[in-house]
Amino acid sequence: MRLRHKPWAEEFLQAHPEIVISNPESLKGKWDTEFSNTNPLHIEVGTGKGQFVVGMAKQNPHINYIGIESYDSVIVSALENALEAQPLPNLRLLKVNGVHLENYFAKNDVDRVYLNFSDPWPKIRHAKRRLTHEGFLKIYESVLVDQEEIHFKTDNRGLFEYSLTSMSAYGMLIKDVSLDLHANMPEDNIMTEYEEKFSAKGQPIYRVEAKFL
Ligand code: SAM
Repeated sequence: MRLRHKPWAEEFLQAHPEIVISNPESLKGKWDTEFSNTNPLHIEVGTGKGQFVVGMAKQNPHINYIGIESYDSVIVSALENALEAQPLPNLRLLKVNGVHLENYFAKNDVDRVYLNFSDPWPKIRHAKRRLTHEGFLKIYESVLVDQEEIHFKTDNRGLFEYSLTSMSAYGMLIKDVSLDLHANMPEDNIMTEYEEKFSAKGQPIYRVEAKFL
């Protein structure tokens, strides 16, 4: 994703504490208090401009969603999308790096992790940055309820193959694999920005659901 410096971004994010969480450490183990309910919590790591997480929150009002994105200049677009979709009491955004999830979520806080069109980091020396690297799987497992799942979509065949290998080497159950999601588009599929872009170019979309055992 091309990053443009947006000097106004920090102030804009701070102006919307009802959506952008400013004190995530203090909510570790008590996200129910933030949402004022005990509904399941699903997070998307690498939410980008937020089309997926906003769409999911609209579609599933009884699930709480948090979109996590490390860049101010990107998450501001997710905030704009979220503001347009208001009221959406089951959606929050978090501007942090996913590598630090354990600072903000306790074991059993999270019921599902979504990864969509994650950066492929094709060079071997950058493998640890891939969001399906063993190091990240360990982090997700440490915040998820036992036996819960990661749902992953990508257009990148290399990253997809790597991710299947990484998840299965970790001991996860590979439940549901699609090599062309749009050939049999699930009715409830919410497209991400990247999904729209790549599928418009005719690229197949790969998807997997994988469960921690
Ligand atoms: N999920 C969106 C979509 O499908 O349209 C965005 C995809 S974009 C290729 C990947 C996004 O993940 C970027 O916005 C990037 O900043 C974010 N990202 C990558 N690594 C991350 C990390 N460790 N923590 C949080 N966000 C991350």
